[in-house]
Amino acid sequence: MRIPRLFLPALWLAALLAVAPARARSAENGEIVSVAKREFLARGLGRKGLDLLMEKNGKIYIVASPGDLAALFAARVPFSRETDRFFPFDQTGISPSGGLNGAYHSTLELETDLRVLERDYPQLAKVVELGETLEKRKIYALKISDNVSLEENEPAVLFVGCHHAREWISVEVPFLFGKYLLENYAGSPEVQDLVNRSEVWIVPIVNPDGLEYTIHVYRYWRKNRRFNADGSYGVDINRNYAYQWGYDNVGSSPGPASDIYRGTAPFSEPEADAVRRLFLSRNFRAMISFHSFAQDILYPWGYVNAPTPKEAELDAIARTMSGLIAAVRGTVYAYGRAAGLLYTTNGDTVDWVFGVSGIPGFTIELPPVDVEHGGFFNDEAAIDAIFRENLPAMLYLTDYAIQHPSSPAVRALEWARRLLSPPRLKFFGRIDKAP
Ligand SMILES: [Zn+2]
Repeated sequence: MRIPRLFLPALWLAALLAVAPARARSAENGEIVSVAKREFLARGLGRKGLDLLMEKNGKIYIVASPGDLAALFAARVPFSRETDRFFPFDQTGISPSGGLNGAYHSTLELETDLRVLERDYPQLAKVVELGETLEKRKIYALKISDNVSLEENEPAVLFVGCHHAREWISVEVPFLFGKYLLENYAGSPEVQDLVNRSEVWIVPIVNPDGLEYTIHVYRYWRKNRRFNADGSYGVDINRNYAYQWGYDNVGSSPGPASDIYRGTAPFSEPEADAVRRLFLSRNFRAMISFHSFAQDILYPWGYVNAPTPKEAELDAIARTMSGLIAAVRGTVYAYGRAAGLLYTTNGDTVDWVFGVSGIPGFTIELPPVDVEHGGFFNDEAAIDAIFRENLPAMLYLTDYAIQHPSSPAVRALEWARRLLSPPRLKFFGRIDKAP
């Protein structure tokens, strides 16, 4: 007789517990599971706010929280545990000498490296504290400009990483860009010109609490570490921004245990609020939010598959950046409207940035292209090559910001909006949609 073992709680629990001691995961953290695609579609699981990892060979892979597992179990959805198939990647390419996180930055290592840059380039680099997380860690930005201590109201460009804790490569690319600008300022007229005419703001780790959790407890953690009312942990910071926050329950989830939980209110989370305050305080003209993985360049909208009024401009910039990236060593980054190329997301950073300012904003999903090539795990030896292939696109976007300063009329409107807007936008949620 065939034993429907996935439906036997005792065996299922035993299997869960058997892997638990290896890496303090499972009981609190969940499992990677697969569901047959026909089952997935028949049960409408695409609308349940699950954290989808990939589709392969007729199966949908899901990073399932304990709540998700319980729900799948209660609904008698047949699923298979796949966690052990993925965890070998955990140790790939990480040298023991670098600690658990190898050459990737921990929060403390990043702070140290930012302060070293500030010390070595005092005229050009300044470490700024943007805010504090729930676990009392600081969120740091590195401001790079000539006369860095002065307020010059130059066109500013924003590069952020690590909204999602497990996307470690997204810390390294913006950090290395800042380091590159500073180290090459003296020797490269091109870099000197860009830095002299702009302000480059780099926030490598938006989510330090989540990042530390991925290093020390559970490598697949995505959200921040908010303790939710139902006893679960975490809000998806990249669903917590105000523009079309909670537009539907597909692009974000109202369920606290979900990996795409949007929080109790727009900007309820200190991490998203820190980015908001920085963004509204400067004359930002372009931005990139780095994530991984997929090799995509995504522009708004994300909340609905419809064009913004600047679709043609955004598409042209994305096409140019994709071409610049491919020219370095042939890596192909697809580009397109976020909701069309990826899936719908509401309350994300780039929709908000575009929604309140109309400037070109992009999500770049860094390598690898899929989970079979490592998923959230890039060999640390690949960090520099991934940065190098993104460098020309980042330089191009910085130059684009300089070439496209806002007109005096637009700037006057922006100043008026800043002066008139209340200190927090959170109470305005859906209204917050101009221009
Ligand atoms: Zn992400």
